Amino acid sequence: MNATESEPAMQVPLLDLKPQYRPLAAQIQAAIARVCASQHFILGAEVKALESSVAAYSHCRYGIGVSSGTDALLLALMALGIGPGDAVITSPFTFFATAGTIARTGARPLFCDIDPLTFNLSPAAVVAFLAQQCERRGSDLIHRASGVRLRAIMPVHLYGQVADMTALMELARDNGLKVIEDAAQAIGAADARGKRAGSFGDVGCLSFFPTKNLGAFGDAGMCVTNNAALAERMEILRVHGGKPKYYHALIGGNFRLDELQAAVLNIKLTHLDAWSTGRQKNAAFYDAAFGRAQLADAVRTPHAVSGARHIYNQYVIRVPQRDALRDKLSAAGVSTEIYYPVPLHLQQCFAYLGGRAGDFTQSERAAADTLALPIYPELNDTQLQYVVDMIAAHLPGKGG
Ligand SMILES: *Cc1c(COP(=O)(O)O)cnc(C)c1O
Repeated sequence: MNATESEPAMQVPLLDLKPQYRPLAAQIQAAIARVCASQHFILGAEVKALESSVAAYSHCRYGIGVSSGTDALLLALMALGIGPGDAVITSPFTFFATAGTIARTGARPLFCDIDPLTFNLSPAAVVAFLAQQCERRGSDLIHRASGVRLRAIMPVHLYGQVADMTALMELARDNGLKVIEDAAQAIGAADARGKRAGSFGDVGCLSFFPTKNLGAFGDAGMCVTNNAALAERMEILRVHGGKPKYYHALIGGNFRLDELQAAVLNIKLTHLDAWSTGRQKNAAFYDAAFGRAQLADAVRTPHAVSGARHIYNQYVIRVPQRDALRDKLSAAGVSTEIYYPVPLHLQQCFAYLGGRAGDFTQSERAAADTLALPIYPELNDTQLQYVVDMIAAHLPGKGG
């Protein structure tokens, strides 16, 4: 009777891409065959088509297809001329690439804590940081302790929900800072006014890593922007900074997107809205099922900002004794993941920034008690209910 002592009654993977692929297989294989027949693999018609449709989908004028979400962030930072002596404000509760790319340009990541409800960069924390730790010197805004010049804010739309961009854009404007949105998890997410992820700041950075809502068959990404000059600069930097070819006014890199990946993504993009709706339906099922199980005290379900479009790249709950619950779920056939177990200010590679435990309490708490549940669109209600039942069975005082 105890699911942990015998074979689990069911297997619920965190993500299974096969049911998404199956109905599209013939169409995708034909598209791949066309690219193979053309033998045109780099920056061709497929990439161009994807750039214009993803830009439009993200309410932006320009799209620059790149090799990954990480390279999208790096390219945006390079195009804005951010480098040694500069600093970028961001969240410590995010995937490594957010701060990793800032550091790779030679700039300094400056962390501010998250809002505990949304897990996104807290405008209030940024206000306090600017007031307490930064000062104006001439036209520059300087971080007092390190002497670096603040250049940009990089908010992350974590789990598929847009950060508080109204407040963050106002802060950026008031302080002369650029805004690079890490929208890797948030393609098509929108705020309550319907404004989409990637369209608020100077550049929006998307990832098509296979686990994102729009996933390629490998690595891929895109920068979106409404700024023509920035778009052109990113296009040049994407091909080593050469314009014309072999003449370099700028030092760029190879950040190109493959035709094969773009061909797959052009097909998958037409299904993205349906997939995101499927995730929203699953999220609503979980919300209701946790309510029915009277787990409101023990399980904190995701806070969706009223009227906004959350695309649920992840459905992340907060629970006490998270690691023990995760082990029990694993034994019951339910896969989960922790996004992310170590906040970035406590990563070994960022020790030089001087971060200490206790610096960002909301991020540290989130790292300790959050758990991502299976949410992909093809899950059925029986599987979702099983996940909730297994959580109910194993929470303290709930008969586990
Ligand atoms: C996935 C992700 C990235 C990086 O994208 P890749 O395509 O894997 O390089 C950056 N930031 C966040 C928040 C992500 O989730």
